[in-house]
Amino acid sequence: MQLNTNTAVQEVEHPIATKHHIRLWMKRDDLIHPFISGNKWRKLQFVIEDAISVKAKRLVSFGGAYSNHLVALACAGAIFKFKTKAFVRGEQVSNPMLQLCKTWGMELEFVSRTAYLNKQLLFTQSKLPGDYFIDEGGKGLLAVKGCVNIIPTTQTFTHAVCAVGTGTTFAGVVKQANELGIEPMGIVVLKGAEEIKQDIVALLNEPNKFKLFHQFHEGGYAKTTNALWQFIDDFAAHTGILLDQVYTGKMMKAVFSLIESGYFKQGSSILTIHTGGLLGTLTRPL
Ligand SMILES: *Cc1c(COP(=O)(O)O)cnc(C)c1O
Repeated sequence: MQLNTNTAVQEVEHPIATKHHIRLWMKRDDLIHPFISGNKWRKLQFVIEDAISVKAKRLVSFGGAYSNHLVALACAGAIFKFKTKAFVRGEQVSNPMLQLCKTWGMELEFVSRTAYLNKQLLFTQSKLPGDYFIDEGGKGLLAVKGCVNIIPTTQTFTHAVCAVGTGTTFAGVVKQANELGIEPMGIVVLKGAEEIKQDIVALLNEPNKFKLFHQFHEGGYAKTTNALWQFIDDFAAHTGILLDQVYTGKMMKAVFSLIESGYFKQGSSILTIHTGGLLGTLTRPL
């Protein structure tokens, strides 16, 4: 089965963009699949192809208790007839996302934060014949390969903006944007993640230009503020588009804040990438 990655690119009409004479667009990769969400399918696509070609039986990966990657992997594993296993960071917990993982047959093993640091060791210690290692968040070169055609080439843009976790998705965006003459902008959602730049460079096999923004993490990874929730609500009410609070909400809030600070020239045409992750909104406190 092939999922359709040819999702809509839609104009985001918002008074702030209009006022600054900027056109905003959004690539709706959140519409690729409800659970193999956004960039997670793009990142898994060639990994799964590789697992099939080496006749792997079980896909083994890693993540936190709210990992969009693990939900995507559990669902994709069921579709492509692999067993799946995940090492989950931290003490045993239950939540709707881990419950979904179990529904698709994923085996969960909770490990201490210390043990979690050595993923290769965890993998080797429990390795069965046919086990296939997939790094945390699916990161790696095969994942980048799935992210080099996110930007639609049917129209022109001046900038392409993407949320940055491990930077794998952004590495693909950077590669394609440099070829197309578009400025790639990465909004880093982790605090103090200065090493991300080197990680992205390592994922690119040729020198590429890109900009990273470190001031929009709202307190750190998965941390939220009232202002962020308010932004997400305001954006949903104006456009009908839902954003998540870990990645796409911070990315779009950053774009608006850069627009208002005059960062973009009048006439700019900005492509924002909706990388999905909407299950995360289920964990919003009532
Ligand atoms: C995982 C995820 C990201 C981060 O992707 P990386 O390739 O790790 O940088 C961005 N947005 C959403 C919605 C995600 O689930």
